Amino acid sequence: MLEKKVAELINDQINKEFYSAYLYLEFANYYAAAGLDGFENWYRVQAQEERDHAMLFYQYLHNNDETVTFEAIAKPDCELTDHMAPLKAGLKHEQYVTSLINNIYAAAYEAKDFRTMQLLDWFVKEQGEEEKNASDLITKMELFGTDAKGLYMLNSELAARVYTAPSLVL
Ligand code: MG
Repeated sequence: MLEKKVAELINDQINKEFYSAYLYLEFANYYAAAGLDGFENWYRVQAQEERDHAMLFYQYLHNNDETVTFEAIAKPDCELTDHMAPLKAGLKHEQYVTSLINNIYAAAYEAKDFRTMQLLDWFVKEQGEEEKNASDLITKMELFGTDAKGLYMLNSELAARVYTAPSLVL
């Protein structure tokens, strides 16, 4: 069994990761309607990764004899006014998720819960990658997105992203 606060934060995180998936599906939905199928693909893959994150936390709680409580997933909170908006909202969201992971880590550290800290090490690294990917996308969009040919090339690049299962196995 885990310390109550740690278990509660991880249970909350399951919902947050499913929300992330939902948010990224909304981005995919926006780009699909705009005819940018590469951007759509990018965020569909991203949504899949977020579901994996949720399921890793789900599995971790069950592995530690904890119960999981599913709560309602909120409506995606974003205003997608142009092709740049999802990218900026994505970076902001990943920075927020990093703060959530850090909060769980702090609680695990406080409880001397080394097992949970070891699990979270993977997520800390993952968040570094997520923020870098989100930030790189914004840079590329700033550089090439205002030109039709540039946007076409960028869309083609993002179309090539394929889903791979997470490197962490529980
Ligand atoms: Mg995630």
